[in-house]
Amino acid sequence: MAGSKYAYVRNFELPDPLLQGTFMVFRLDGHSFHRFSDAHEFNKPNDLRALQLMDHAAQDLMEQYPDITLAFGESDEFSFLIRKSASLYNRRNAKIVSTLTSFFTSSYVFRWTTYFPDTPLKYPPSFDGRIVLYPSEREIRDYFSWRQTDTHINNLYNTVFWTLVQQGGESTTQAHATLKGTVSKEKNEILFSRFNINYNTLDPRFRKGSTIIREEIPEDSQTETSTASDAAPAKHMRSRTKPRTRTVVLHCDIIKDEFWVARNDILSS
Ligand code: ATP
Ligand code: ATP
Ligand code: MG
Ligand code: MG
Ligand code: MG
Ligand code: MG
Repeated sequence: MAGSKYAYVRNFELPDPLLQGTFMVFRLDGHSFHRFSDAHEFNKPNDLRALQLMDHAAQDLMEQYPDITLAFGESDEFSFLIRKSASLYNRRNAKIVSTLTSFFTSSYVFRWTTYFPDTPLKYPPSFDGRIVLYPSEREIRDYFSWRQTDTHINNLYNTVFWTLVQQGGESTTQAHATLKGTVSKEKNEILFSRFNINYNTLDPRFRKGSTIIREEIPEDSQTETSTASDAAPAKHMRSRTKPRTRTVVLHCDIIKDEFWVARNDILSS
């Protein structure tokens, strides 16, 4: 193998290391999920089953890769924070992105029937993935604030849009026109004055997205396992001295300091 006259082609492969000592943010996003969600009749504006399936695939990925300290998801996307000291796959970019994207995608398909028992998959879904490096905690905080702000902006728009269609009897074209140029305050006002809906009382899952953290399992309940790890494809051997952890899905604010102050381990290594 190594000595064949063909082996020189290997030298065309270029190394693609990710700078050591920097935070990696791995983000994946469903490919053409506008179409995928139509084809599989997702409820609008938010299909709960689809969001829970995304959360579960993200939990599977965190179970598989202990270097992930935090995840945040909305719609068809998820972002994962990988600790800056990680030496995962020698920090090879393509290796990490392709393996993690592939694992998430197959977990999504693997668990599809649990969340969509009556909706057979019509075709194989796919996700794109990328890694962005950030030098410090400031950018990581701002990165996650950026994603959660996006969740809010999209959800407010989609909520008003679909309320106008589903309850207001407007066509999708009319609803687009009604919302054109409106600011947040006006959108809230449409919801409240016309439909008696107070946006701030809607399910936090939709308003805040899904934040997944690791939580220590208390000593006395170490025989129990979380839902996510029950059927996790692979379990690692863990040393007995290390406390076992499980992943937990939250729907909370991650823009203010409070979330981070209470969990300084997320950024500390
Ligand atoms: P691209 O391939 O560029 O990402 P896309 O069609 O996936 O294109 P996105 O901007 O990623 O576009 O948006 C994803 C779309 O998938 C949303 O706009 C929405 O229509 C749909 N979608 C994803 N998750 C859900 C959900 N849980 N409930 C309802 N619709 C969803
Ligand atoms: P890496 O993650 O670095 O790719 P790997 O264990 O997948 O590690 P490869 O060099 O890709 O290593 O080799 C794949 C191995 O999988 C083969 O050596 C063989 O043992 C096994 N394998 C793959 N396909 C088959 C097959 N069709 N029948 C039997 N064994 C197979
Ligand atoms: Mg996109
Ligand atoms: Mg998409
Ligand atoms: Mg998207
Ligand atoms: Mg292989």
